[in-house]
Amino acid sequence: MVTPEVMPAALNRGLPEKRRAIAQAARTVFGREGFSRASVDSIAAEAGVSKRTIYNHYADKEQLFLSVILEGSALVADTHMRIAERHLRKILNLEEDLISFGMEWASSPTAFTDHFALVRALQAEVSALVPDVHLVEPDEAQQLNPLLRAGYVELGMLEPGAMEIDVHAVHQGYVRGLRDRKGHIQASAKLVDASRSAGVWTVTDSAGERHQAPVIVNAAGAWVDEVAVLVGATPIGILPLRRTIFMLGAPEGLETSGLPLTGDIDATFYMKPEGPQFLCSPADEVLQSPGDARPDETEIARALDALESATTVNSRHVRSSWAGLRSFTPDRMPVVGFDPAVEGFFWFAGQGGYGIQTAPAMARSGAALIRGENLPEDLRAKGLVAADVAPGRAGMSIPAVH
Ligand SMILES: Cc1cc2nc3c(=O)[nH]c(=O)nc-3n(C[C@H](O)[C@H](O)[C@H](O)COP(=O)(O)OP(=O)(O)OC[C@H]3O[C@@H](n4cnc5c(N)ncnc54)[C@H](O)[C@@H]3O)c2cc1C
Repeated sequence: MVTPEVMPAALNRGLPEKRRAIAQAARTVFGREGFSRASVDSIAAEAGVSKRTIYNHYADKEQLFLSVILEGSALVADTHMRIAERHLRKILNLEEDLISFGMEWASSPTAFTDHFALVRALQAEVSALVPDVHLVEPDEAQQLNPLLRAGYVELGMLEPGAMEIDVHAVHQGYVRGLRDRKGHIQASAKLVDASRSAGVWTVTDSAGERHQAPVIVNAAGAWVDEVAVLVGATPIGILPLRRTIFMLGAPEGLETSGLPLTGDIDATFYMKPEGPQFLCSPADEVLQSPGDARPDETEIARALDALESATTVNSRHVRSSWAGLRSFTPDRMPVVGFDPAVEGFFWFAGQGGYGIQTAPAMARSGAALIRGENLPEDLRAKGLVAADVAPGRAGMSIPAVH
């Protein structure tokens, strides 16, 4: 049980009484019931507060869950730092100091039962969707990625069947498929004007060319709301969030090819091998207006700090960096469906950080909905519901039309 007494002062301070009670109740209820089954009502009952009080402190259940996971991880890390400081900062008798350090370190996890119950509940839910995901103990984590520092991993989660996608090959496959079907791609053709008459759109691109079609598919990434305004539709409130990437040289002679993509639960960094280098990211999500994204040096420095405490990679060897926009809807679900108010205007937006891996499923879903069919059977069997990705759903800026 994580009690206020073991909570580091930095975390304890500034947490009002109610917020602390809610966080503790959430830790208990999420750990017992998992994220999906835990309700805000049961957390409110456990904390002895009203549901409204919870929403005064946290935007939604997801934010509450994320917040307690992050607080729990920070608590574990902070407590271990303190133990190391207490026993190893000034060595008087190496053997005695190491033994007392080891004993306190080994006994500390009992203080974190709720936090680890939460991590285990998260794993149980993830494995319902991805069955090969399992928990790994620190030794196995270090065998999988020998660059991890000893003592860094408390508990890991591994997806052995995860694969890397050759994005270029996937893209070329789609391009070939389109051309085989007599499709035509026109690059550098920004939509600048659109009007609809007798069930047909006439759109004008930036080169002044005009095109006609019964349906416009708005797949303009970070710019979907700008396109919506052009056709007279209500924006969905797309949030283009910047993500920075940088490359680090791998230690000389290290065979990187079998190393897994590795990241921490707080999402302060991730790294994955890319030939003789590591592709790394601070996993940043900074809101920007649509346009060219630039890598953020401060975020890179923060990720390097995190990488340094987690691994033995040489953080001085940043070779290059770049950034891109990952576009999210307010509820982080994609938007695939006809606009409820503007005829012939189809949304295909908000794939966030998963637009490559979800492309085959989402494209088939989009095609089915445009043809007026149900979502593909196999995707419905996996739980995909058209209303969950519809542009007029609750939480979008667009009101549904009934
Ligand atoms: C750093 C980074 C890492 C990522 N990692 C992953 C990952 O590991 N796995 C994964 O699955 N996904 C990942 N993604 C997300 C993935 O790249 C996106 O989800 C995907 O590219 C979205 O595709 P899209 O076609 O909807 O939008 P985009 O790729 O943004 O394409 C939109 C297009 O619309 C065009 N456009 C804009 N305005 C107009 C207009 N007025 N007229 C005509 N055209 C217009 C733009 O020029 C652009 O070509 C990552 C993204 C970033 C930035």
